[in-house]
This record gives sequence, structure tokens and C-alpha cells, in this order.
Amino acid sequence: MKIIPIPVLADNYAYLLIDEATKQAGVVDPSEAGPVADTVKREGVTLSSIINTHHHWDHVGGNEELAKEFAGVKIYGHKRDQARTPGITNLVDEGDTMKIGGITARFLFIPCHTNGHVALHFPNEKAVFTGDTLFIAGCGRLFEGTAEDMHNNMVKLMSLPDDTRVYCGHEYTVKNLQFALSLEPSNAKVQAKLQWAQDMRAKKAPTIPSTVAEEKEINPFVRVLNGELQANVKKQFPDVALDAVSVLAKTRQLKDNF
Ligand code: ZN
Ligand code: FE
Repeated sequence: MKIIPIPVLADNYAYLLIDEATKQAGVVDPSEAGPVADTVKREGVTLSSIINTHHHWDHVGGNEELAKEFAGVKIYGHKRDQARTPGITNLVDEGDTMKIGGITARFLFIPCHTNGHVALHFPNEKAVFTGDTLFIAGCGRLFEGTAEDMHNNMVKLMSLPDDTRVYCGHEYTVKNLQFALSLEPSNAKVQAKLQWAQDMRAKKAPTIPSTVAEEKEINPFVRVLNGELQANVKKQFPDVALDAVSVLAKTRQLKDNF
């Protein structure tokens, strides 16, 4: 599968996914139609599906225009988001599958950022599209769920094979790593990744994808049981209980104000 990141809006990524054997394509989170339609035409492929990780406007904004331009396109989203996903045709839930040409993907239900958030996982291609739930070295805001929900989502995504590539919804990597470093100043993997990410952004290059293995080394919302991170969270919240969910809640609170 060919994966083409398409930068949209200020810092969003839509992704065009192409099955090269059949020239069928799907797009994940088309915030705007124009850049996606241009990429579809340039690649000479047939757009057969739109996959929305969640209903926010910066992930679904191009749905209706694309559906008009590319007749017969199916629009996938979680069943809870039926009323708030423009043009939705296919309601999905945990474990449901879909195909782009001959390539199979399955949906993981990961509610919290919104209560109808899904990830799209390609087991054979070793790739997962995580929307605004798992960012590189970060996680999304807890708009419609609890710290426990987000912790469960991190555990679920980190249970995918270590070499799974992680493609997220926004280019937040540098800021996320600066925050990670504030909680784990001696983490050499975070230091190195931050330097690398700053170099990439200076060239206007994207920092996606990372991998599941890498997130385990650099992501503070995954590393809630790390000693240095916990000590630094405790400095600011002396009464925090040192279980995963409590530490994630306080880490998220710190990130909201970073
Ligand atoms: Zn969002
Ligand atoms: Fe977003």
C-alpha cells in the first residue's frame, strides 16, 4: 500500500492510501477536498472510500465535496457519529473491517477525544491511523471521555506489533517532545527525537510516521509508570496517586497548560 500524507489546513494530515494492484484508493480524514482531489488525480487512482477517525470539522471538512466529485465514494465513521459526520454511508464499530482494493483494514474503537473516535489498522501493511487519539509523543485532549478511557486507548494501541507505523492527525511532534522532555529531561530517546523533529520541520518535512516501539520510548501518555516522569508530575501535584490513570490525568492537565 502506498501512503501519501497530504498536509491540510494549518497542521492537519489527510492520508491517501493506494492499493497499487487495483489503483483503488481511500482517504483518511480529508479536512479539505481540494488538496485531496488534486492528489487523487495526480496519482491516477479511483477514490472509493473516505475514512473519518472522528467527527471534528478538521477531519471531515472535505467529505461532501469529495462525495460530489467522486461518485460512489463510501464514507466510514463510528456509528455514534452518524448524526455529526457529513455524508456518512457506512457505520462501523470495534472489529469491523473494510477494504481498499484488495487490502483489508480493521477499525479499533478508541473513544475519549470524542466518544465516536476510531483508529484504522492495516495488520498486513503494519500501519495504524490514529486521528487525534495518539499523536507522535502525545495524545489528544479528553473532550468526551476520561483519563481512564485515554489510558485504555494507549494500552490498546501499544498492544499492536512494535513495528506498526503510527500516522496521526496533526503535526504536533516538536511541541509534544518539548513537553515530554520537561517531564523526562534525562530521556535520551526524547532528546534525539526532538533534535530530529526540529531538523525535519526546519525543512518543512513531516515527522510522521513513528512506530509503536518508538512511542513506548518517547510518549509521556504511554510512559505513565516511568519513575522520572512520575517524580516530575508529583512535584507539581504532591497528592497524585502513582497509578497509570491518575498520572495520565495529571500529565494531560500539565500538557493543556504547556
Ligand atoms: Zn479532533
Ligand atoms: Fe484534529
